[in-house]
Amino acid sequence: KKTTTKIPRAQYGGRNAVTMLPGGGIGPELMKYVRDVFHFAGVPIDFEVIDIDPSTEGNDDLDYAITSIKRNGVAIKGNIETKSEELGAVSRNVALRNELDLYVNVLHCKSYPGIATRHPNIDVIIVRQNTEGEYAMLEHESVPGVVESMKVVTDENAERVARFAFEYAKNNGRKKVTTIHKANIMKLSDGLFLEVSKRVAKDYPNLEHNNMIIDNCCMQLVSNPYQFDVMNMTNLYGTIVSNVLCGLSGGAGLYSGRNYGDHYAIFEPGTRNTGTAIAGKNIANPIAMLNSAVDMLVHLGHNDHAQVISEAIYQTISEDNLRTPDIGGTASSTDVIENIMKVLSKKRVHWQHG
Ligand code: ADP
Ligand code: MG
Repeated sequence: KKTTTKIPRAQYGGRNAVTMLPGGGIGPELMKYVRDVFHFAGVPIDFEVIDIDPSTEGNDDLDYAITSIKRNGVAIKGNIETKSEELGAVSRNVALRNELDLYVNVLHCKSYPGIATRHPNIDVIIVRQNTEGEYAMLEHESVPGVVESMKVVTDENAERVARFAFEYAKNNGRKKVTTIHKANIMKLSDGLFLEVSKRVAKDYPNLEHNNMIIDNCCMQLVSNPYQFDVMNMTNLYGTIVSNVLCGLSGGAGLYSGRNYGDHYAIFEPGTRNTGTAIAGKNIANPIAMLNSAVDMLVHLGHNDHAQVISEAIYQTISEDNLRTPDIGGTASSTDVIENIMKVLSKKRVHWQHG
């Protein structure tokens, strides 16, 4: 694949402020790579970096992060560890998505040539409800030894997510949407999710709509992932299926995930891992976070910058064969980043008259 995109010229104005939440584990080192690459490519973005410490009392840091995202509209984040195992300890990650009403998560798994995986050429999009379902965080111990956890499905959110899936399919030349559920057992909650998806499908007569039970979906994904195009599902199924799909096509270090609401967007690695065990070793794959940064550039309309960085990523891992150990290589994180910058340096636009 021969590419000719150049780094656009720097220009006054048109800069965006973006909230950066590095999170724990490998988050901070991956964010440093993002900033290095952006700096090198002259990306017109200024980051407002906010560290969230999950071990602190209270929610001041979280409130501060939310205020910042409301001001900037956009954030890039690593995973924030939830330290306390106590009942009632709130995941900062879930709280952020809920507070900002980021009702949908999108993960596009598109294989990179050259990486040995279980199945080649996978190209599947997961559209996941991102704020309710099994993540409603409504758990309590009714009597000692008995815990109840509520799964919440609303017509409104099921509709917003299904609508997003069909619109995405329509606007991206996709052919089919598959709704994933367990409506045979959870007749009311998943039943509603399925029913709403069928209702929304009527507005898209040119798209095929089918549905599949979550357990069969996992088996089908592992044995024949090519039958899937755009997938629509509730929150917990979404995180499990995302991990299955990423595992089939290169793992946790490659793909980005996008969280959208009507007003805000947060970009992060698709499988949302903290990576505590590999932090500080210069072995973490920087690509998933870089792809999140590319998604963010597209969202902000910096399409040329997005494209040059995306092409440099592709060339580095699929043509120059520089890969971290998680995708079968021997390169360090910084080897990969240095190569990306080397590729970018050939795409610089030099000042000229006229
Ligand atoms: P969690 O945060 O959900 O506990 P982990 O941090 O244990 O997840 O990550 C799951 C697996 O994915 C681990 O084996 C981890 O090393 C791997 N992993 C996650 N992110 C990356 C990355 N960027 N590069 C390489 N491996 C990664
Ligand atoms: Mg972990």
